[in-house]
Amino acid sequence: MIRAVVCGAAGRMGGRIVSMVHEADDFALAGAVDRSTHPSLGKDAGELAGVGKIGVSIAGDLHSVVKGSQVIFDFTTPQAAITHLAIAAQAKVPMVLGTTGFSSADLNGIRELSAAIPCVLSPNMSIGVNVLFKVLAEIASTLGSDYDIEIFETHHRFKKDAPSGTALRMAAVIAGALGRELDKYAIYGRKGMVGDRGKEEIAIHALRAGDVVGEHTVVFGGIGERIEVTHRAHSRDNFARGALRAARWVIGRPPGLYDMQDVLGLKGRG
Ligand code: NAD
Repeated sequence: MIRAVVCGAAGRMGGRIVSMVHEADDFALAGAVDRSTHPSLGKDAGELAGVGKIGVSIAGDLHSVVKGSQVIFDFTTPQAAITHLAIAAQAKVPMVLGTTGFSSADLNGIRELSAAIPCVLSPNMSIGVNVLFKVLAEIASTLGSDYDIEIFETHHRFKKDAPSGTALRMAAVIAGALGRELDKYAIYGRKGMVGDRGKEEIAIHALRAGDVVGEHTVVFGGIGERIEVTHRAHSRDNFARGALRAARWVIGRPPGLYDMQDVLGLKGRG
């Protein structure tokens, strides 16, 4: 049994991970953590996640539950995730980091901390999206620079960061395949007399509406035709399932920062 701790256990993703960990044959919930001011502190994590009492209450601090655990999931906020990673690194417990919205300084900090433990970081743990990252690189490099790249994503009204980490990763993958520097060519929305579209622009747009779990479309717009590639998440379960797969994979790996492409064996596959 893999003894797992879930950070952000009172949240949308945390709740799905708690219930999947509880239902999986090879996992046991060793701890559930949320922010120390959360109204659900002390409540049973299983009851909160809708799977009935499992005897693990929501703690307000990772320190109190990290001992003896074998993997830590984090779906919280960038600031909390970095604090949790520092605790995991000190306790030498591998981590699956699904939180999004990190700055480049945050990412440098994550890289440094994961010199002590194996850590899987991915803005999207769904298998479909990770296969799509591969396919997008292939489409972009085959089409070349005559096609305009527009990415748009839709998420629920509660999402904190924009654009989504997944949209940013898609843009990075395409920029890499085209040999463009993303920081130089990315634009985020348009307004006013913007003039003709810059040939090398990679445009990213974020929609926020109701309870949409997550949708991403990449448009490759040419003269006389366009390709649109869309991924739609029907529920959060595909992210949670991917996170459990990452946890099984990360235990026992050498320290370092990994992503879902490593977990799924997609790296370097042509
Ligand atoms: P949410 O707001 O429902 O849940 C976040 C939880 O983290 C909340 O319960 C909050 O109280 C808790 N939290 C905040 N500060 C904390 C702290 N200091 N210590 C412990 N817990 C703390 O959000 P969500 O929709 O579950 O998403 C959480 C994160 O996961 C976001 O960054 C989101 O973009 C990301 N996400 C990633 C994937 C993926 O596949 N990688 C999929 C969906 C969402």
